[in-house]
Amino acid sequence: MGSQLDIQPISHWLPKIDNPLLISGPCSLESEEQTMATAIELAKDKRVFVYRGGIWKPRTRPGSFEGMGSIALGWLKNVKEETGLLIGTEVANAQHVEECLKAGVDVMWIGARSTASPFVVQEIADVLKGTDQIVMVKNPVNPDVQLWIGALERLSQAGLKNLVAIHRGFTPFGESKYRNYPSWKTVIELRQLMPNLPIICDPSHISGKREFLFEISQKAFDIGLEGLMLESHINPSCALSDKDQQVTPAELFKILDKLVIKYTSSNDPLFENMLDTLRSRIDGIDHEIIEILASRMEIVKQIAMYKKENKVTALQISRWTQILEDRLGIARKLNLDETFIKIIFQLIHEDSVRQQTEIMDSDL
Ligand code: PEP
Ligand code: MN
Repeated sequence: MGSQLDIQPISHWLPKIDNPLLISGPCSLESEEQTMATAIELAKDKRVFVYRGGIWKPRTRPGSFEGMGSIALGWLKNVKEETGLLIGTEVANAQHVEECLKAGVDVMWIGARSTASPFVVQEIADVLKGTDQIVMVKNPVNPDVQLWIGALERLSQAGLKNLVAIHRGFTPFGESKYRNYPSWKTVIELRQLMPNLPIICDPSHISGKREFLFEISQKAFDIGLEGLMLESHINPSCALSDKDQQVTPAELFKILDKLVIKYTSSNDPLFENMLDTLRSRIDGIDHEIIEILASRMEIVKQIAMYKKENKVTALQISRWTQILEDRLGIARKLNLDETFIKIIFQLIHEDSVRQQTEIMDSDL
């Protein structure tokens, strides 16, 4: 279940915004020079509103660069003074939040690993209570929309209204083109459950590689998301973290130039515009349907191998009857036309049996 929380649009805390919200800066703040040099280049382009930089870095394994810690807060403050950009960093515990509040950090975000932990989110919400801090919540590492909403609810219950969700992709199972696979379906679900919540995309952590930044960014705009968080570094090849996904500020501007920015708003009078948005959503869902069918077929193939080893038939009528009954029951609950769902599952089942018999007979 979602909920209609009291959430302000981005223009509430950033009145001068006339483009999508763009947040950029290094994965990690590494030195005073790297912090300022990157910021000065970014500030030359008026499309960048917020400067990001990781100070306390959550790393999968110990021993990797874990951020410069509190000293980097001073560097971030200097960026604000020198460039006028808003500043933002990730917080993962009460002490980080307290230090950021003292340093005047404008935007704090909760990282994907922290969103997955309600205790951590609650601890952060408790310290922020009574402030009007801007807080962004990355999706949890697993595609659980309720966990994502739960984190937003905890912050809302602490009185925070300037909330933004960030889609940064989900941990893949096995081989994957992207470091963290995007789930537009989950984003669409979040939008449907919380229509007044601004959602932006973090193509850097989805892609893992700079070559995919454009396609993911464009997809985010096509879906109607309100902004992007893109990592940039004055010298990406020397970055101490996430070096393959960072771009120089100049490369970032080139990506931005190529992107077709799409504006969506519920009171947009332009029918064509709205139609475009709806069609993009349909495209996204259809692509996911095909991907889901492909994963289903992979399992079917595994079943076929087991059946073959155990000399069991491809077609098992009792299982098929049970599948159909179950799927039609779900369709009824969701108000979907039963004949429509029945036809779809007959086709899916028919192809599964065909694939199974092919595998079973392959070396006969
Ligand atoms: C980050 O933004 O630097 C970061 C660590 O991201 P995530 O929480 O999405 O992994
Ligand atoms: Mn990073």
